[in-house]
Amino acid sequence: MGGDEKMGMARIPTPICIECGKGGTILVQMSDYLLWQSKDRPLIQNCFPALSREQREQILTGIHPECWEKMFPPEEEEVEIVEVTGTLEEAYDFFAKIQEEARQ
Ligand SMILES: [Zn+2]
Repeated sequence: MGGDEKMGMARIPTPICIECGKGGTILVQMSDYLLWQSKDRPLIQNCFPALSREQREQILTGIHPECWEKMFPPEEEEVEIVEVTGTLEEAYDFFAKIQEEARQ
């Protein structure tokens, strides 16, 4: 663990992605990979501290970062979409009312 970067990098295969049906690879530190393969392996975030959350996810599930975004578009997760009808003035009033309610 740590300080063994001289061992070089390893390109490891990842499972088949359920979104696109393809496998993939992730480039990792060889020493990190050996740790991940060890019998009492630590949590993945401790094995691959240099990788992003998305890359670790791909190692575990095979889901590519871009496929993850397709499955769970970031905007639609949190933003509530409100249908506005009527005039622009009515829309302003409507949003003002929503913001007012949110404050209470
Ligand atoms: Zn994919």
